[in-house]
Amino acid sequence: MMDIAPDMPVQYIKGVGPRRARLLNKLDIYTLADVIYHFPRDYEDRTEIMPISRWQSGQVVNIVCKIAGPPRRVKPRARLIISKIPIQDGTSSAYAVWYNQKFIEDRFVPGKWYFMRGKVNIGYGEIQLLNPQWEEISSPDERGNEGLVPIYPSTADMSQKILRNIVKNVLELVKGQWEEYLPIELRKRYDLAEINFAINNIHFPVNARSLNIARRRLAFDELFCMQLGFYSIKGKNDVQKVGAPFRIHDIGLEAFIRRLPFALTGAQQRVLDEILADMSNTRPMNRLVQGDVGCGKTILAVLALYVAASNCYQGAMMAPTEVLAQQHFQTLQKFFDGYDISIALLSGNMGENKKNEVLEAIKDGRIDVVVGTHAVIQDNVEFHRLGLVITDEQHRFGVRQRAVLEKKGGNPHVLVMSATPIPRSMALIFYGDLDVSIVDEMPPGRQQVETFFIPPSMRDRLYSFINQEISNGHQAYIICPLVEQSDAIDALSAQELYDQLKEKGIFGDSIGLIHGQMSANDKNEVMEAFKNGQISVLIGTTVIEVGVDVPNATVMVVENAERFGLAQLHQLRGRVGRGQHKSYCFLISNAGNSDAGRRLKIMTKLHDGFKIAEQDMQIRGPGQLLGLQQHGISELKLADIFSDIALLKQSKEAVQMLADGIMILDQRSKLLLEQRIKRQFLNNIDEITFN
Ligand code: ADP
Ligand code: MG
Repeated sequence: MMDIAPDMPVQYIKGVGPRRARLLNKLDIYTLADVIYHFPRDYEDRTEIMPISRWQSGQVVNIVCKIAGPPRRVKPRARLIISKIPIQDGTSSAYAVWYNQKFIEDRFVPGKWYFMRGKVNIGYGEIQLLNPQWEEISSPDERGNEGLVPIYPSTADMSQKILRNIVKNVLELVKGQWEEYLPIELRKRYDLAEINFAINNIHFPVNARSLNIARRRLAFDELFCMQLGFYSIKGKNDVQKVGAPFRIHDIGLEAFIRRLPFALTGAQQRVLDEILADMSNTRPMNRLVQGDVGCGKTILAVLALYVAASNCYQGAMMAPTEVLAQQHFQTLQKFFDGYDISIALLSGNMGENKKNEVLEAIKDGRIDVVVGTHAVIQDNVEFHRLGLVITDEQHRFGVRQRAVLEKKGGNPHVLVMSATPIPRSMALIFYGDLDVSIVDEMPPGRQQVETFFIPPSMRDRLYSFINQEISNGHQAYIICPLVEQSDAIDALSAQELYDQLKEKGIFGDSIGLIHGQMSANDKNEVMEAFKNGQISVLIGTTVIEVGVDVPNATVMVVENAERFGLAQLHQLRGRVGRGQHKSYCFLISNAGNSDAGRRLKIMTKLHDGFKIAEQDMQIRGPGQLLGLQQHGISELKLADIFSDIALLKQSKEAVQMLADGIMILDQRSKLLLEQRIKRQFLNNIDEITFN
């Protein structure tokens, strides 16, 4: 045991105090442990010191110097004060120069050593180092551990130097006594550094090699803890039993499938078999279905609901938007027409009376299938006998959501339909608590959506193309990033574009507007009109990003396309090309050849959602794409799921060894790991199981 408390408030750390404590809190640093786990985002290489005699204008240089004389102050014009500190390093002399920071003049003590880093400016017969970062050092040799100095995520009020000193003080306080929580056999097996070596060297690396060793150990911890967390959730789920396994034979399922307007694809059939195997088990299903947009995931949900209802259990289908909930409701009505299965839609803004009636009917079991948004179903509904929960177009089934479901009693089967397909190897990591099925085949007859990246100046030509499509009986979407015009952001709003197009009459009268700020009823009316062809061009925001299925639409236009992520654009593009007709996607942007422009060009070449998601993750990071934080898991700070594949495999293997009892943790390690895992899951997980 160590005599320092990891949860000691930062305020009591040497050099902190109440004011700095508040600044640290802003960085989510509250305790001593938080300081230790506030890892540098980068390192500054101070290895190379450049003598003044070799400086060149425009270069960024490191220098170790002494003060050569008193400061000089120049006031070339009103409100401009230039402070110049003469410095020398034995090879030559120069000035360190600051603008409007006259307090700096008193900071330097003649005779002491300083490290400085800044940009060189040579001119007017002077050699200058402009606005350098600086630090007093005790000798010319001391410039921070062979020169690798940490740069922390920080705010403007908290300088790197102060933050670095606080970390230094904490590490001095810890004195190599931070408690190890990985058993020695595990560290040996995977060649992982001891924890004190790791935390010391991640902050103040002795050299590049020890930094790598430290980073590897701590990245392993991140991946290991994340997977242990998932394993705990899954393990808990594994031991839970459903009331009775569902019957899957003799319930007319084969006949139901035969009566569908299409034959299932091979992939749909395979995934259906996996779902049926789960549902006929006493252990609740906990399955994620992945598949590219348009591969036909909805029908799998329909079939699962049919099985639940035929077993006299209720099913709930949750969608991320009202529009999609409404669409699912209609789809279910269509497929269940002629069967004795009652379906209800729960909407956020249906009248109180109507709503209470529906809630009552769900509670006493008169309703078999409930459709609604996540919020609606989670908040209000009491079930009679809930047997199946489906969440559609959700990145992952959040830790919190499961807790909510458990409170509703029973252990329903859970099926998650993912909006963002990711490669299986990654799915195994990020959905470690779920079984994963992949629908890797498109229904027959689909054509690739031809995709173009065009500048706004081509809008008129685009509009005549759309009119041509309309005259062929097709329809189009135009998506804008905003609902209303905003002064702060220079992007086209849906409302504004709608007004413009309406006024100019470019598409005649058959245009519609849809966005999230409209009432559910208004949205439904517009969607209805679009579906039955009264509206030819639908202008909207991303409320129609996911799930919407109108096979007659053949054109998708995205305004200010640079403002969307790749996976999101792929989802939007997935709204067209759903029928037999040739379809087109136009990404409008000024981005040209900038980074954003290159990103958009990827869309014109790639059509595979898995590959696009991979690119998007490399650009934006996996946490953001998968919405980890939204789902109660913190972002990975050190581990990189692309370059750390080997580490990923090892951490997964380690979790498995614990699960199988091949490796055993002592009580103390368990306790410490538990704390770490809870921390990583932002305290959304209460029980950790190791085997
Ligand atoms: P997503 O996987 O994106 O949710 P949907 O379930 O909305 O896709 O299906 C897209 C379209 O493909 C729908 O119009 C659906 O009726 C149709 N579809 C689904 N499966 C098949 C199939 N096996 N053959 C032909 N069309 C299908
Ligand atoms: Mg869908």
